[in-house]
Amino acid sequence: MGDRGLILAVANQKGGVGKTTTAVNLAAALALEKRRTLLIDCDSQGSASSGVGVHQADSPTIYDVLLGGAAAHDALRHTDLADLDLIPANRDLAGAEVELVDLERRERRLTEQIEPIRKSYEFIVIDCPPSLGMLTLNALCAADAVLVPLQCEYYALEGLSGLLGTLDRVRAAHNHRLRLQGSLLTMFDARTSLSRQVAEEVRRHFAGSVFDSVVPRSVRLGESPSHGLPVMLYDPASKGAEAYRLVAKELLNSLAAARANVEEVGGREETSAR
Ligand code: ADP
Ligand code: MG
Repeated sequence: MGDRGLILAVANQKGGVGKTTTAVNLAAALALEKRRTLLIDCDSQGSASSGVGVHQADSPTIYDVLLGGAAAHDALRHTDLADLDLIPANRDLAGAEVELVDLERRERRLTEQIEPIRKSYEFIVIDCPPSLGMLTLNALCAADAVLVPLQCEYYALEGLSGLLGTLDRVRAAHNHRLRLQGSLLTMFDARTSLSRQVAEEVRRHFAGSVFDSVVPRSVRLGESPSHGLPVMLYDPASKGAEAYRLVAKELLNSLAAARANVEEVGGREETSAR
């Protein structure tokens, strides 16, 4: 994967902010852009798995991958989208927070286990659980970048300093390259002044690292998981589908711009070295 691809952790220790919805639908949108994508479900609720049609997965799951029983390759599942694979989670994962604590190099399990399959994917999207425990830590150690969904409600920024502090600690101790790809406003309701106020406050707070695209509150987004389908398969014309297609495009554009920038700086340094 190297400089072409990206491991993206979707994280926020608050529940119900749109992590799983974002992980599933961003991964699906990238796959529909013909980018080979792997979705890794790191939540014992298994909602990302059921969101792409894998309900109550049998072993091997991410639990077996993390706790050593299975190779990541053997835990891969195909989905309805040709370019989207899944490593599912089930209830077994609920024990992992505690079981991981006793292992050596416990925060690097995911990094090490996905290394052999990295090159097969252009994007690996990790759906984190609603906590800052060992599972989220494993995701942040494996990731190049983190996407933080923020629900457009009154307490959107509450608890965020905890997450940002964790990112700093992970950067210092384990993963220097980890960067904030951006926060993403979710469940935006243009009719309420609260949504608009929260959006403004978030943009002030995170100047420069907020996705321009905003995900609106959309009935179709709420319904699609119960059909085991990403929204762009469930109702491709819905505004939820359109929103996540735009998020994917924005991500692709920003990666392309960053790459062009690196090449330009590299070229300049070469010239001045001569
Ligand atoms: P998290 O993974 O952070 O706990 P979810 O993605 O599961 O959050 O979202 C919480 C709930 O809100 C789910 O029932 C989901 O279907 C719903 N939901 C998420 N985003 C939207 C949206 N933009 N519009 C409507 N419902 C949404
Ligand atoms: Mg979730």
